[in-house]
Amino acid sequence: MPKSFSIVPISAFADNYLWLIHNNRKAWIVDPGDAAPVLTTLRSSHLELEGILLTHHHADHCGGVVELCTLFPNLTVYGPAEESIPGTTHPLRAGNEITLTSLGLTLTVLEVPGHTLGHVAYVGQDCLFCGDTLFAAGCGRIFEGTPAQMFHSLAQLAALPDKTAVYCAHEYTVRNLDFALKVDPHNQELQNWAREARAQREQGEPTLPSQIGRERRANPFLRSTDIALTPALDHYLGHPVGTDPLTRFTVLRAWKNQC
Ligand SMILES: [Zn+2]
Repeated sequence: MPKSFSIVPISAFADNYLWLIHNNRKAWIVDPGDAAPVLTTLRSSHLELEGILLTHHHADHCGGVVELCTLFPNLTVYGPAEESIPGTTHPLRAGNEITLTSLGLTLTVLEVPGHTLGHVAYVGQDCLFCGDTLFAAGCGRIFEGTPAQMFHSLAQLAALPDKTAVYCAHEYTVRNLDFALKVDPHNQELQNWAREARAQREQGEPTLPSQIGRERRANPFLRSTDIALTPALDHYLGHPVGTDPLTRFTVLRAWKNQC
């Protein structure tokens, strides 16, 4: 069935994407860290903002909420129940379902702690809005949670259907692929993806959304148990990494932090 809505990126700051979901009349914005570029797009496209979806409390994801709520006093603002983000009208928990009625889009809330403790993601109609948890060929830094929390959060996302489009919040793909190829240099999918992503960036195009199927085949943070990663992990550590999945993931994340 064709989708009754479009999803377009609005660039903000150095490398953020604020995702605008619209049907040429009504619009919702995901993680408006800055109100200005959202307002510019709404005006130029003659769209009426109905609401906001928030994934977590970092300023580059919610810094524009108060201004947008002042300009549009009837906005619905969905956000994580575990993080008190000013402007939130509907705090959400895992399993909650929300329907953006005018867009014909129903989304289910997932709790994905790790980057922050209350981080949520929204999934529905083969679309995933995952903030700073899963990135194309990478994952978010673990600022507030534990490696175990992030590992389980990523496993929830990896279990989504292959064709799920991944609308993450930053253009980190080329850098992530550079790292992924250090860890898994012989992965053909990664090699192809790196060529495609570089070409897209050279044209000034976004590399997103990616797809869960590709993430599962190529993203090292979803494949920490794959033996193809073992030589690089052993070399990085200076001793055998072993087979424990969480240990391997934790080593991988620590290595990426240094790159
Ligand atoms: Zn963040």
